[in-house]
Amino acid sequence: MKDVITIDGPSGSGKGTISKLLARKLGYNYLDTGALYRAVAWKVKEKRVDPDNDTDLKKLLENVKIYFKGDRIFVDGKDVSSDIRTAEIGELSSQVSAIPAVRAALFSLQREMGLQGKVVIEGRDTGTAIFPEAKNKFYLDADIEERARRRYEELKGKDPEATLEKTIEDIRIRDTRDSSRESSPLMKTDDMVYIDSTHISIDDVVAKILDHLK
Ligand code: C5P
Repeated sequence: MKDVITIDGPSGSGKGTISKLLARKLGYNYLDTGALYRAVAWKVKEKRVDPDNDTDLKKLLENVKIYFKGDRIFVDGKDVSSDIRTAEIGELSSQVSAIPAVRAALFSLQREMGLQGKVVIEGRDTGTAIFPEAKNKFYLDADIEERARRRYEELKGKDPEATLEKTIEDIRIRDTRDSSRESSPLMKTDDMVYIDSTHISIDDVVAKILDHLK
């Protein structure tokens, strides 16, 4: 497991940007596990499935084909890379990700991708549930106001309804849901290196991670 690097943390902690950069520097692949939950949420919305209806959700999970091609993500042949980046899909993905059947359906997919080796895998449970045996695990964090500010910068061009206040509130709800769910909650464990990026630049965070890897 030497060449699997896990990076977990809450929304807006910078995991995405940092993991991508780190992967590029190391010549590793990059796996954005949040995109998989967003892809399921996108399909749930498109099919108008009630996520609380176990039978319908199970059927959807059995039939849906989610895969990456380069840095694009596809659901049943459709490139949904941009469509999954809205606040609405973010919220729905947080809801569906608390359902154990959804986590179980995405587990093997993530294991298989990671086991190909040389990968930076990023999410909420990559170091606890997906690759607990990984040797290099990191937990990225930042103050909630700073995380909301970063998320708002990403959203405002795409979502005219987005405001900073609403983004703070959304992140607060997602933080609580992600860390209090029963199935693989977001959690920092003692074997993870904790990095707070509130006051440090992306490049400095990447440098810190590279230092730990040496
Ligand atoms: O990281 P991102 O915001 O794209 O993730 C979307 C949602 O997917 C998160 O709010 C979280 O609820 C869920 N997620 C998860 N486990 C992961 C990655 C994401 O539960 N490993």
